[in-house]
Amino acid sequence: MNRKKFIKSSVLVAVGTHFSLNSKLVGLLELENIKTENLLGISQSHLKSDTILLEEDTYEAFLKMKSKALEDGIDLKIASGYRSFKHQKAIWERKFNQLIKTNNSTKAISQIITYSSIPGTSRHHWGTDVDLIDGSVNLPDGDLLLEQNYHGYAPFSKMRSWMEDHANKFGFELVYTQNKNRSGFNYEPWHYSFAPKSRSFLKFQLRENYKRAWDNLEFDGKSEMTKKFMDTYFNNYGAGINPSLMPS
Ligand SMILES: [Zn+2]
Repeated sequence: MNRKKFIKSSVLVAVGTHFSLNSKLVGLLELENIKTENLLGISQSHLKSDTILLEEDTYEAFLKMKSKALEDGIDLKIASGYRSFKHQKAIWERKFNQLIKTNNSTKAISQIITYSSIPGTSRHHWGTDVDLIDGSVNLPDGDLLLEQNYHGYAPFSKMRSWMEDHANKFGFELVYTQNKNRSGFNYEPWHYSFAPKSRSFLKFQLRENYKRAWDNLEFDGKSEMTKKFMDTYFNNYGAGINPSLMPS
């Protein structure tokens, strides 16, 4: 181990200890400098912090892509990038507690997961994934991340088309494509992922030790999620993505 690596991992041990929910969650992944806690949204030690918070390599690649897009008159802005477990839990519980007023919990969960990830499983925990808008146009009223804002004569159409042509040169791929045969979350023209990193992060998310660590998390509705349900969720939703983002 060289000096730089040694310093980095020493710092990670300290940060990891500080952020641990409990000892069961501590599990070193095979990836250099990445821990289960990073992928669960509990530790931010893999992120680079500036005005935006992203995984280190994703951050560098995003800045390169952003400056190229600017040359073409598009201002790539991150509407949502890194999201912590705590934040995802808040989003989830707000929806869940609203829906269970009129639905049973199984139905509430299946409705939420058409668009929102189960806390602890979101690709936004990884710091490799971004929801993009174009900061150079007049923003539409209301929710920005809607399909209608990205297609036809819509404010973000030019950006979508630019991303379809150029994003992969910078390592970014659309996650939730329009492919009708794809399982999982609905089409999201705004959600891109930095493939060189997120492919290996996904590989770890699909492993049993990650799933065991996830099982120690707590949030409303979790008691309904059986092992069988979660295995199906990880297969259909976690792996229900653009094939170019699947681990080899
Ligand atoms: Zn997203």
